[in-house]
Amino acid sequence: MKPEKVYACYNINKDLRLNSSSGAVFSSLAEYVLNKQGVVYGVAMSEDCYSAEFIAVTDEVGMARLRGSKYLQAKIGNTFKSVKRNLIAGRHVLFTGTGCQVNGLKNFLERDYDNLICVDVICHGAPSPALWKKYAEYQEKKNGGKLRDINFRCKDDGWVDFGMKEMLKNIPQSEEKKLYISRDKDPYMQMFLRDYCLRPSCYECAAKEERKSDLTIADFWGIKDVAPEMNDGLGTSLVLIRTKKGQEIFNYISCEMKLKEVTYEAGVKGNPAEYKSCIRPSQRDTFFDDMYTMSFEELEEKYAAPIKYSLKTRVKRKVKKIMKSMLRVIGGAESNLEYGLLFVFRV
Ligand SMILES: Cc1cc2nc3c(=O)[nH]c(=O)nc-3n(C[C@H](O)[C@H](O)[C@H](O)COP(=O)(O)OP(=O)(O)OC[C@H]3O[C@@H](n4cnc5c(N)ncnc54)[C@H](O)[C@@H]3O)c2cc1C
Ligand code: SF4
Repeated sequence: MKPEKVYACYNINKDLRLNSSSGAVFSSLAEYVLNKQGVVYGVAMSEDCYSAEFIAVTDEVGMARLRGSKYLQAKIGNTFKSVKRNLIAGRHVLFTGTGCQVNGLKNFLERDYDNLICVDVICHGAPSPALWKKYAEYQEKKNGGKLRDINFRCKDDGWVDFGMKEMLKNIPQSEEKKLYISRDKDPYMQMFLRDYCLRPSCYECAAKEERKSDLTIADFWGIKDVAPEMNDGLGTSLVLIRTKKGQEIFNYISCEMKLKEVTYEAGVKGNPAEYKSCIRPSQRDTFFDDMYTMSFEELEEKYAAPIKYSLKTRVKRKVKKIMKSMLRVIGGAESNLEYGLLFVFRV
């Protein structure tokens, strides 16, 4: 389903970008609605970090909980009813979620509302919440603390080479422990990226055929070939405009963005999840049987062996890491300089 227009873009606010998964487009869309005393619906981690759930936010303080992708299926609860109540009361509402969640809301509402903006994320699948809980408990046991915060898309090593950042507390009383695990080494992320742990519907995703959102947002994977000047390593978004309402709100927030219009083909070349479902791996059913009988350690051994990179790739990554930390030491170099140097040295 082709959109009306397609953009590469990122928020000019660097802090917002660092705290977002891609280019922080969601934050600007949300701010637009909050400035109209509206309500923003999106996904936050529960307080115990064992699950993800939809919440309603009406101020900037609450926005911190919504920023960033949570890679597990979120609980909807009474969200659709609550959105309907807000709409009937005349409030502006921004609803964000996966394509199937946005389509689900639109079907529930059964009619259009001028005061509703729907944004979906391109999504190749939502992992099982039961697997996430098992992983969280495994991390708590291994590290001796309670999980208190999780960033699935930490950009410490860059936007493309992201990792998981986890904060645990009470080790012993009220001490904090911070973990950073690169996406190649984290067993949960590996099970997700290998598509073992997704919902059955994700392998035959109906939302790829019909998206009922006003805008779709995603990572602009492939930006380095399409618009290298928009690739500074801090995260670039792909935005697909699907309706007139979507274009109007995007025009409004565009003063906060660096952006470039691109063709649909260029935009989705590195992101097939926009138009096709992932292939159901042959191990998928056995994986789910094992998930209920095996310990997380056993699952890890069977399904998440760390990726083995060639010596060349490992050396390149090491050099990149050393150069980045050197640049930080010599005075917090600006990202453009940083990535300019990394580009010159081709690492
Ligand atoms: C399960 C999942 C799979 C994804 N797969 C892809 C992919 O294959 N390719 C791709 O390009 N992008 C994918 N994304 C989208 C991408 O990770 C970013 O969320 C998106 O680019 C928005 O980034 P941002 O910087 O604008 O805002 P952010 O601040 O990062 O925005 C986060 C937004 O995502 C929503 N969100 C967070 N977790 C969930 C969740 N569990 N369920 C529903 N909504 C959620 C929040 O409500 C908020 O609206 C996926 C996101 C999720 C949640
Ligand atoms: S892949 Fe499709 S069915 Fe699965 S969560 Fe994403 S939008 Fe929903």
